[in-house]
Amino acid sequence: MKLVFASNNKNKIIEIQQMLPESITILSLEDIGCKEEIEETADTIEGNAILKANYVTEKYGYDCFADDTGLEVDALDGEPGVYSARYAGEQKDSNDNMDKLLFNLEKHSNRKAQFKTVIALNLNKEQHLFTGIAKGNIIKEKIGTQGFGYDPIFVAENDTRTFAQLSIDEKAIISHRGIAVKKLITFLSKI
Ligand code: IMP
Repeated sequence: MKLVFASNNKNKIIEIQQMLPESITILSLEDIGCKEEIEETADTIEGNAILKANYVTEKYGYDCFADDTGLEVDALDGEPGVYSARYAGEQKDSNDNMDKLLFNLEKHSNRKAQFKTVIALNLNKEQHLFTGIAKGNIIKEKIGTQGFGYDPIFVAENDTRTFAQLSIDEKAIISHRGIAVKKLITFLSKI
């Protein structure tokens, strides 16, 4: 089965490709000739996933799935949430984003946070949503070199290492995206 994954983020494509069975061939946006950036204008994580999947299906006619992720920090009322990528500005720089988050959390003792991924799947003219959540804490300094985004400052519940200290395989088992993708795979393997 050929499915478009509405992304050109190589980290995510590698992560997801490794989790999918060989019977599913993933096409990236580049593969289908979609060169334009799909604006993420919704104000929820769900909304942005739906918006991206619908854009590809409506404009290019492919069955498609799209994901959107945010880091929701308890003490900051769920910030940065849907604005995680551009928390510290449109340059979308991970180090700047982490620095801003660490600064905003300096005075808070509650360091609880969760990553949330929503995958919207458009298949055979129906839409399905799959959600994955990874709960944990924001630590006070950056540790580790793997992964991307906020990984160096996030430690999952029942773990002592940051996401940036885990291998791709280790992260996939417990991560928000891994959990959402597993739900997607379970669904796809039944059809
Ligand atoms: P996206 O919707 O997957 O592009 O994620 C939005 C932003 O959330 C990214 O730019 C990262 O800053 C952050 N993010 C998403 N997934 C992860 C992850 O697995 N680890 C750390 N940060 C992430």
